[in-house]
Amino acid sequence: MDSLSKFARKKLAETRVKGLYRQTIPTRHKDPVHVERGDKIYVSFSGNDYLGLSRHRRVIAAAARAAEKFGAGAGASRLVTGDHPLYQELETGIATFKEAEAALVFGSGYLTNLGVIPVLAGEGDLILADRLCHACLFAGSDLSKAALKVYRHNDLDHLREILDGQRSKYRHTLILTDGVFSMDGDRAPVEEMTALARKFDAWLMVDDAHGLGVVEQGKGSTFKNGHRLDVPLQMGTLSKSVGAYGGYIAADAVVIDLIKNRARSLIYTTGLPPAVVGAALEGLKIIKNNPGLCNKPIQKATLFCRELDLPAPQSSIVPMIFGDIEKTMQTADRLAEQGFLVHPIRPPTVPDGTARLRFSFSAAHQDKDILNLAEVIRGL
Ligand SMILES: *Cc1c(COP(=O)(O)O)cnc(C)c1O
Repeated sequence: MDSLSKFARKKLAETRVKGLYRQTIPTRHKDPVHVERGDKIYVSFSGNDYLGLSRHRRVIAAAARAAEKFGAGAGASRLVTGDHPLYQELETGIATFKEAEAALVFGSGYLTNLGVIPVLAGEGDLILADRLCHACLFAGSDLSKAALKVYRHNDLDHLREILDGQRSKYRHTLILTDGVFSMDGDRAPVEEMTALARKFDAWLMVDDAHGLGVVEQGKGSTFKNGHRLDVPLQMGTLSKSVGAYGGYIAADAVVIDLIKNRARSLIYTTGLPPAVVGAALEGLKIIKNNPGLCNKPIQKATLFCRELDLPAPQSSIVPMIFGDIEKTMQTADRLAEQGFLVHPIRPPTVPDGTARLRFSFSAAHQDKDILNLAEVIRGL
């Protein structure tokens, strides 16, 4: 065997021994919550399509129209000739909805964080990140060459302590947090964080991948009771509640202009296909006009938690932590036997010893499916 295949085989063997081997499974979506795998149909509690918009007829029609009108691909980087007309409409729409001066759309949420963070922080700067921040916030931080310090999850005292001791040693400081934490479903104390950021002249960036369209009537974690909080960098994705694909950052116009000029994951990659931008535009419109729809995922999660005496959910995500990987996998298998698809989440996606089932709820779930799921879990 050649050395490359040998290397791959050895690495995979290590992964299998740890119980961490992963694979892709062909999955056909019948509607937002029913999926077909092999010859079996499941009710899925493992999607991020919180409002069912990826299957919404208006969103699909908008994608088809955009492809007809502007073609299947963008054909070039946005800074060359790939900036097709729907981009501007989408960015204006995002900026208006997030009550920011401007917005910039990237190829994905992951690419947004990889691109934005190194533009704003470099050598001589400090990045402070919540321990449970999404992997792409850490990936962006690693690319930046700034000093990275990790604070305990949602621990404002720890964050303040680091700022007190370290802030003056650095030129600029960037604070990174998820708005809704992707594997735990809890929310960051964004309002309190804005006060800390102001006090220490730090820039707060909130990744709201799971908040947009779901919390605060769909406005996301950077809002409270209808008012925008003082978060200068509002980041999010168009691939979850919006039902399409792509990522965005909303900020002051001059900041967006700088990012557009410097972010390598924007400059050196092809623009999104028009169909994707068209779909995102329509998905966002539906979110803007339907705060009642946006409240539904949390209502569904609340029903589930009530049935199982779990604490009230803060988002559409509810974790059930087993710790033990084998136990987690077995529980997922038993739920699958009963027709429920609940994806087991293992390290390194979550910290060691916290393997879990992660239930995510969509506006499209039927209450009876949730009640049935809860009953099966009670009987495990
Ligand atoms: C999913 C997710 C991303 C990545 O977004 P994509 O558009 O899927 O690349 C970024 N941050 C958080 C917190 C996420 O959950």
